[in-house]
Amino acid sequence: MLGQTEKGTISVHTENIFPIIKRWLYSDKDIFLRELISNAADAINKLKMLGYSGEFEGSAEEGAVHVTLDKEARTLTIEDNGIGMTADEVKKYITQIAFSSAEEFIEKYKSSEDVNQQIIGHFGLGFYSSFMVSQKVEIETLSYRTDSEAVLWECDGTTSFDLGPAQRTKRGTAVRLFIDQESEEFLDEAKIKELIRSYCDFLPIPITFNGEQANRQKPLWVSSPSTLTDEDYLEFYRYLYPLNDEPLFWVHLNTDYPFTLQGILYFPRLRPDLDFTKGQIKLFCNQVFVTNNCEEIIPQFLMPLQGAVDSPDIPLNVSRSFLQADRTVRRISDYIAKKVADRLKELFQEEKEKYQQFWKDIHLFVKYGVMNSDKFYEQVKDIIIFQSTASEEYTTLAAYLDRNKERFGEKEKKVYYASDTSAQANYLELLKAQGVEALILDSFIDSHFVNFLEQHNPEVRFARVDSEIHEQTLEQDNANQLVDAKTNKTRTEQLVDLFKGKLHLPKLNIRAEALKTQTIPAVLLLPESLRRFKEMTALMQQKQMDFLEEHTLVLNTNHPLIQNIPQLEDEALSELICRHVYDLALLSQKNFDAETMGQFIQRSNEVLTRLSGRAVGTVEKVEPAESERFHD
Ligand code: ADP
Repeated sequence: MLGQTEKGTISVHTENIFPIIKRWLYSDKDIFLRELISNAADAINKLKMLGYSGEFEGSAEEGAVHVTLDKEARTLTIEDNGIGMTADEVKKYITQIAFSSAEEFIEKYKSSEDVNQQIIGHFGLGFYSSFMVSQKVEIETLSYRTDSEAVLWECDGTTSFDLGPAQRTKRGTAVRLFIDQESEEFLDEAKIKELIRSYCDFLPIPITFNGEQANRQKPLWVSSPSTLTDEDYLEFYRYLYPLNDEPLFWVHLNTDYPFTLQGILYFPRLRPDLDFTKGQIKLFCNQVFVTNNCEEIIPQFLMPLQGAVDSPDIPLNVSRSFLQADRTVRRISDYIAKKVADRLKELFQEEKEKYQQFWKDIHLFVKYGVMNSDKFYEQVKDIIIFQSTASEEYTTLAAYLDRNKERFGEKEKKVYYASDTSAQANYLELLKAQGVEALILDSFIDSHFVNFLEQHNPEVRFARVDSEIHEQTLEQDNANQLVDAKTNKTRTEQLVDLFKGKLHLPKLNIRAEALKTQTIPAVLLLPESLRRFKEMTALMQQKQMDFLEEHTLVLNTNHPLIQNIPQLEDEALSELICRHVYDLALLSQKNFDAETMGQFIQRSNEVLTRLSGRAVGTVEKVEPAESERFHD
């Protein structure tokens, strides 16, 4: 019992720890309020626990934290009606344990740069962080124990403190900060309100500021999922991200073993400019907000997700590298990824239509995820879906392979795909006419994803529709293979020679085949492996890829235009048409640059002029336009 004020010294080895506290956490002073409010909330929860266990008779009064700012007196008071402390407890918890842990903490991190200021603060320094903003701190407290007396602890930021009797008659603790000159900002009401809102909004205990309720209190993630409606989840989302569109769906996390974790993750509509480096998930510890930067806890590919994760088991007062190596953190990260995968599987199985609708919004992160985590790939590989030319419905790779098995050889299962349905429309048409199905892989991530799929499915080979002519789209072409006695060449060879002569493009391979279509005179092919290699190097050197090398022009001997060309007597017209056939093949691949486009338009006009000239009987002599491209 304390009859009179007692002088004491905080047992320290560091002579004066307060200047260090102030300097060390200078950049993140804000956290002091979070620390004091969570201590207050802890004290209230402890009392509640004692009530349950029968050690405390209980009280009708609800637990609450009151924050009051007195600008004139320059004080900020955080008061709770929790468990309170006896004089001995103040000595023990505040001056010995809390102090030594603060001291130990500072010793440990004094020289380390590899620490996140936000994370350091959290529950590391606790009560002593109040000295970051105060010249003096008082604790006035009355324990719940019936035989105890109120005490007042005072400390002015040196290592000595006063501990004496106090007037307090209400159970609980009031921590009064005398704000120092350098911390003027904490005498601003708006600032304090904002701090309570950002850190303590979801503490399930009412917090008032100058008499008004200042926090929302209801952390949805602690509710049991079975009691929540879709509207509850949506409303909570709107509260967290007021400026965002509605999320697509969500997953409620809730586990007690081998760690405690709760949370709700939302799948937002993802945009192509997705940033996987910026986390949007809010990390909480016992409902107190800690940070938006939880890259170590959430697998990187889940960064685009939003929501809240709350776990008291994440070691917060440690460095990032430690966090990454920590076993619990790794388990938590795996757990979250698995839950996300489970939710996706559930949607795939139970709400297929919705899943297909969402796919365009989620495919980026799923693909990014599987390429970054083999575990995630194993979990979701069967629910990765593709658009296909075979039907409106999406398909899995396995279903595609199964549908197309008839045309596969022993060793290889070839998957045709289009990366740009309008540029590759001709090729798709050709395949479709013969009943050959192609997948559509048209986002920027897909060229990598195709490589990835091949690595994981060694029997499968992906061929872009413009990389080769599928056998089924070819006809026997005996007539054109007959050798002409005069020239000793087949008709096909003659046609190829004719085009070579007219185009003057030494790097261009030219072939003639009987395609099973009469609507496409010619197509261009670029071998898959070469194109991929070029795409990769273009990506690395950040330059435009030169598509026009090493490609092959396939002339369709079934097309009337191609059949007519050798019979043309007008050489100039023949050249115009050959160039035009090539241009159209290029154009349909969208490979025109500005200059080529100009030439193409000019040439089109010439062709039409000639055509109309013939029709009215005044054949004009129009020389083909000079084109550098054709003479390189
Ligand atoms: P931590 O909260 O991490 O234990 P602190 O330095 O914040 O460290 O607090 C030290 C101890 O002081 C607490 O564990 C608690 O026993 C006691 N304490 C602090 N604030 C209060 C309070 N408002 N009511 C009752 N006890 C408190």
